[in-house]
Amino acid sequence: MPPANAPASSTPVHASRVRVLHPGGGRTTGPVVYWMLRDQRLADNWALLHAAGLAAASAPAAPVAIAFALFPRPFLLGARRRQLGFLLRGLRRLAADARARSLPFFLLEGGPAEVPALVRRLGASALVADFSPLRPVREALEAVVGELRRDVADMAVHQVDAHNVVPVWAASGKLEYSAKTFRGKVSKVMDEYLLEYPELPALMPWDGEQPVDVDWDTLIYRICSEAENVPEIDWCKPGEAAAMEVLLGSKDGFLTKRIKNYDMGRNDPTKPRALSCLSPYLHFGHISAQRCALEAKKRRHLSPKSVDAFLEELIIRKELADNFCYYQPHYDSLAGAWEWARKTLMDHAADKREHIYTREQLENAKTSDPLWNASQLEMVHLGKMHGFMRMYWAKKILEWTSGPEEALSVAIYLNDKYHIDGRDPNGYVGCMWSICGLHDQGWKERPVFGKIRYMNYAGCKRKFDVDAYILYVKRL
Ligand code: FAD
Repeated sequence: MPPANAPASSTPVHASRVRVLHPGGGRTTGPVVYWMLRDQRLADNWALLHAAGLAAASAPAAPVAIAFALFPRPFLLGARRRQLGFLLRGLRRLAADARARSLPFFLLEGGPAEVPALVRRLGASALVADFSPLRPVREALEAVVGELRRDVADMAVHQVDAHNVVPVWAASGKLEYSAKTFRGKVSKVMDEYLLEYPELPALMPWDGEQPVDVDWDTLIYRICSEAENVPEIDWCKPGEAAAMEVLLGSKDGFLTKRIKNYDMGRNDPTKPRALSCLSPYLHFGHISAQRCALEAKKRRHLSPKSVDAFLEELIIRKELADNFCYYQPHYDSLAGAWEWARKTLMDHAADKREHIYTREQLENAKTSDPLWNASQLEMVHLGKMHGFMRMYWAKKILEWTSGPEEALSVAIYLNDKYHIDGRDPNGYVGCMWSICGLHDQGWKERPVFGKIRYMNYAGCKRKFDVDAYILYVKRL
């Protein structure tokens, strides 16, 4: 069912994927501007398709422009050099691809506050934004929509969830308790949404203001020098083409070469390539989760268990994280935990800890646990800790800090500082799951953890070759 504020369908996009933030009305001429936020790609992008559909349906048919606003210092969600370098290098490729398709790309270095002035200058008939559930992005969008409502009241503003297979607001109208409750809802409507994308139609030629030529080398150098120095990574190249290579490459593509190992190997940190390694691309929107899911389904015969497990992570777990951040304003603090979890954590907040480490000791991997230190160093050096180790890593932070609030804030700080896929709903939910029992159940009560699920070194030793993992990280 489309939401009450869905627009009349003039585009190939499912009506419930689109929300009307401001109906506008009077304006029928002028370009459509797509304000690209989280979905930094041209292919398989419902927001761009919607913008193109609106432009084609206006009379006379109008062109489309893309705008990207760099959030000014301290940068969006505290991005460091590592994340900013990836973002900007990805945008450089995107801008070149856009130019090749005669799509003007406006980079707004002054941030979201420049969006209203741009649409005014271009005489836009509509603004289309994509969707993120995270606070600063929502606040920036609200501020822009507020200004446009006042100053350009006849221009429509739409928002499209181009990130989730099932749009967050269509999957569920409320905060979901667990993957089980969410899975039921999403599975029921999946076939309605998990469809092949249409081609981006031919667009009207752009004859308006030309975007300023960006000197990308200078820009990247300047922004990266202003940012805190967490070095960039080189094992993962940004951009849509690189993302597709990781998904479908003929040499080492996840679905073409590695998928068979996913079912049995994904919880073994000594086998990092059993995982898809798609998270940087999904985070920056260089690839669409829907494309990954469509391609995985086509290859289900290769390894049904692996494909099903991958789809569970890619759709259910990932979109459950968006559900949490969308409906829970306190998605990154203890206040966002369920009542039972807050209570049990507070009951045990004063329990004696065997070790207490400062944030600096943790950051520098100076604990007495070589396995934990290895996971921390994997994140620092590689920018991507193995998924299984992330759980152990965060739970140990609960054990080794003075209380759950500090644990959560240290875990989020380190996660977002070093992970290339950090600053993502998955990260907030991953930390909340590990430390605050989010989307989990209560377990046997024990010191410090209360009823929160516990993990320890001995358990890891039973599951995988701990020494081999430590050695692997040493060699990074
Ligand atoms: P794959 O196993 O190949 O998964 C494919 C995709 O499915 C991932 O890219 C991701 O988008 C999604 N996915 C996988 N596992 C989860 C999960 N548990 N929850 C939600 N979605 C999932 N993921 C991030 O993207 N950014 C983070 O900052 C982040 N921080 C985390 C912190 C903690 C403490 C925990 C427990 C988990 C965190 N995760 C985070 C979730 C998960 O560990 C990573 O998505 C995964 O390891 C990324 O590697 P991959 O793409 O090779 O994974």
